[in-house]
Amino acid sequence: MRLFPIFADLEARLVLVVGGGAVAERKIKSLLASGARVRVGALEAGDAVQELARQGKIELLRGSFEPDWLEGAWLVVAATDDRELNRHIAALAGEQKRFINVVDDPELSSFQVPSIVDRSPLTIAISSAGSAPVLARRVRERIESLFDHTLGSLAALAAGYRQAIRQARPDLRRRREFYDWLLDGPVADALRKRQPSQARQLLEDELRNPQAAIAGKVILVGAGPGDPGLLTLKALRALNEADVILYDRLVDGEILELARRDATQIPIGKIPGEDHNATQARIHSLMLEHARQGRLVVRLKGGDAFVFGRGGEELQFLREHDVPYEVVPGITAALACAAYAGIPLTHRDHAQSVRLITAHCRQDTFLEDWPSLARDKQTLAFYMGVSQLDWLSEQLMSHGRSGDTPFAMVENGTRSNQRVLQGSLKNLAELARRHEMKAPSLLLIGEVAALAPALEWFGASIRQD
Ligand code: SAH
Repeated sequence: MRLFPIFADLEARLVLVVGGGAVAERKIKSLLASGARVRVGALEAGDAVQELARQGKIELLRGSFEPDWLEGAWLVVAATDDRELNRHIAALAGEQKRFINVVDDPELSSFQVPSIVDRSPLTIAISSAGSAPVLARRVRERIESLFDHTLGSLAALAAGYRQAIRQARPDLRRRREFYDWLLDGPVADALRKRQPSQARQLLEDELRNPQAAIAGKVILVGAGPGDPGLLTLKALRALNEADVILYDRLVDGEILELARRDATQIPIGKIPGEDHNATQARIHSLMLEHARQGRLVVRLKGGDAFVFGRGGEELQFLREHDVPYEVVPGITAALACAAYAGIPLTHRDHAQSVRLITAHCRQDTFLEDWPSLARDKQTLAFYMGVSQLDWLSEQLMSHGRSGDTPFAMVENGTRSNQRVLQGSLKNLAELARRHEMKAPSLLLIGEVAALAPALEWFGASIRQD
């Protein structure tokens, strides 16, 4: 079930509640709190409900359910303990196109009432579409603990200055900066110390500060290997603030989902027939074009931008053109794949060093020092190696690395379709072919790879010798 979340304005609108017990009472009270006019129909009504009727706060109809109770209601809440009756009311409400919530019965409901974190006027609503109320409650508890109660008064304060803020900061990015300052800075502090007039004063002073023209900026962000949980908080923040996102093919769709909704997302991959330098030139000119228009550009790359990511070249270009930039590191594939395959990259007994190497070079220009790569007690992490496995393993073995050295090849590391192939160096190419290992795959070679069977915890593994 997929629900469309809405926040309904019930002010002075009629809502029918069927039932007069404790559950109904709770619903009635929260409906009244949001300003709804409430009609209650019930065979029997509890004391509290009767009291509300006496005070004139609700209209109370006594007796068995009558279809004409529905008349004029925008929403219906069925809170009786008679499932047949609830079903009947739901059917009638449906015919009349009125939204109904049958308490604790998602199947009969056409709308559901979420769990709420109330920092009025800020309201956070959580739903599991009725499938896991316990989970929703958990999430609610977590969120409750994240935001102190100042948030409500802060939101109310900001609401009072909305027009003024809009006028003083007509530019969207400036405005966002202002709100960030409001949330993180001295105004929130003053509210926390229960000094509302001080908070007001600080806000007004800041609004009077003239602002310089805004300059664009590029943030080079490492998106990590795939699992969105591996994004840094800074990366998440950059995605939330970006006007434009230039992203690589390797970046997972789930990560782009986290970006600000109205950011322009531009995929950058190699166009067929285009060489790498032309692609890179296109990226450079896109960054420049958008930054010069005062935008916040996030250049989003898989893993870390400085590990086989040409991040250095992009910064050189930006520096030459006087475009300000920041860099947010990401978790590179070697670290992530090793962790998700249960392979410690270094180990007191098995490996004193790690080397990150690209296998994606023309073989005749591959200038690596094979004898040093072939030494034992070190871990080699090869990027972009899927098509070079015969050559790689032959070179290592002919320079002295034992054919029995364990390897692990991690395909789609950290993603739900992660596969790990394990075996010995001498069988590497043959095994990878047999199991059709594809890019993106990361190859780890070294004694530590033998620890995977004992330490693995994620995804599927194939072991063969
Ligand atoms: N900047 C990136 C690397 C880019 S090169 C980083 O720091 O991770 C692209 C290579 O990275 C791929 O060919 C593959 O070898 C490796 N890689 C990236 N993501 C991967 C993943 N999720 N699983 C396995 N290998 C990955």
